[in-house]
Amino acid sequence: MDPEEYRKAGYAAIDYIIDYFKTMDERKVVADVEPGYLRKLLPTEMPAEPEKFDDVHRDFESKIVPGLTNWQSPNFLAFFPSNVSYPSMLGELYSSAFSAPGFNWICSPAMTELETIVLDWLAKQMALPKCFLSDGEGMGIIQGSASESVITCMVAARDRYLRDAVAAKYETEEEKEEAIASARGKLVAFASDQTHSSTQKAALIAGVRYIAIPTSAEEEYALTGARLEAALAEAEAKGLMPFFLTASMGTTAVVAIDRFGEIAEVTKSRPQLWKHIDAAYAGAALVCPEHQHMLDGVEDNYDSFDMNMHKWLLVNFDASCMYVRRRRDLADALSVMPPYLRNSVSDQGLVVDFRDYQLPLGRRFRALKVWFVMRTYGSSGLQEHIRRTSKIGELFTERVRARADLFAIVAKPRLGLTVFQVVAPGSSAGTEATNAVSKKVAARIEKEGQLYLTSSTVHGAFAMRVVTGSPWATEGAMEEAYAYIEKVAEEERSE
Ligand code: PLP
Repeated sequence: MDPEEYRKAGYAAIDYIIDYFKTMDERKVVADVEPGYLRKLLPTEMPAEPEKFDDVHRDFESKIVPGLTNWQSPNFLAFFPSNVSYPSMLGELYSSAFSAPGFNWICSPAMTELETIVLDWLAKQMALPKCFLSDGEGMGIIQGSASESVITCMVAARDRYLRDAVAAKYETEEEKEEAIASARGKLVAFASDQTHSSTQKAALIAGVRYIAIPTSAEEEYALTGARLEAALAEAEAKGLMPFFLTASMGTTAVVAIDRFGEIAEVTKSRPQLWKHIDAAYAGAALVCPEHQHMLDGVEDNYDSFDMNMHKWLLVNFDASCMYVRRRRDLADALSVMPPYLRNSVSDQGLVVDFRDYQLPLGRRFRALKVWFVMRTYGSSGLQEHIRRTSKIGELFTERVRARADLFAIVAKPRLGLTVFQVVAPGSSAGTEATNAVSKKVAARIEKEGQLYLTSSTVHGAFAMRVVTGSPWATEGAMEEAYAYIEKVAEEERSE
């Protein structure tokens, strides 16, 4: 492709993207294709000879686009949102052009410096404790995903624990090595039974044990200090070594918020236990002062915090914003310095090299899209987006509440998420009959494909989740979605 062909195709791509969004509400939210559909449409080998981009684009339109799930559709009410916005896409475009894997500061100084600046801006806007800002011992860094953040922190936590809580008790290198080797099998990571599976997966990768602490509906599915204390004491009595805890600000199934103050109190006597906050979805709402009470109890007593701008804050995947209280903890665990990565600026300790604070070496220029979004929306625009889309979610909650004869709400609705069941005639929430009718409703909605929503099992109750958050969501579409769900629920219940 020569520059002029690129210019033409590039302009056409922008037109195509604008039209895609303009026609979003006419598009089916879920792809209408069978598993394996694409294999039947594409050749088994790559083309031997160059093809015209126009021909490639024709196939993209006719074969790829129909196989896409339209996450920005107002009828997409599943999982959590995966936002995108025009300035964010422009940031991606420029970033892809520079294609600079800025693992060291010297590899592209603006990449590192802009990332530090925008993450400080975000931390201040979210009212995070000052310990996470880069002007002290803390730092923000953009990771690819919340899952990547939790494994990164867990590796740092494991290293810190083995060094400071295990090896430090011994004199000789040999003794230290022996103590570390025998401690490895005793390390245990904790989280609540509502915590996202990424913590369990991180434990799997890190080769440590994992304990899920039960929660209860009466305590709004939150991890409490008392439950944590009981779980830690039980593990310690067995000779295990609790070294890591994920506390959630907004769990996946029900947006439960763990009791940060109580957790901090219980862990005060265990300073080597790393406390991570997973705020992947809910963290976005912290840009609004009225949601900052979610941080109650979080002071300079948590080691790390992570939120995904790529869920609900107008930046497209990926932009997981991770903060640590002591950046040294990450570098101590993750810095490896082969001769080919050395350079004089790094050697003099004048700069931060992000490779020391993440798992991979290379990294994308994600800060650019974040900066474009922050500049073009301003904090007022980000707040407006959160408030507008939460309100659309609350509209659904109101409708569901108004039909207490038909629906039961399973967990306190929060931040636009409603988790509900369809109550079987003559039955109540959480019964076998209610689970069965709820499953039938969910299956029919999935089959008909008019809406996309996900379901979950919350302590044995099969429940559907409705959440929006897309910049293209509207109240009108939510009213229609509710009317459709109500109709299906009534029909399936009366069968
Ligand atoms: N944490 C929570 C609470 C989530 O809901 C999710 C995904 O939805 C994740 C973590 C994982 O996010 P990611 O896809 O960025 O790894």
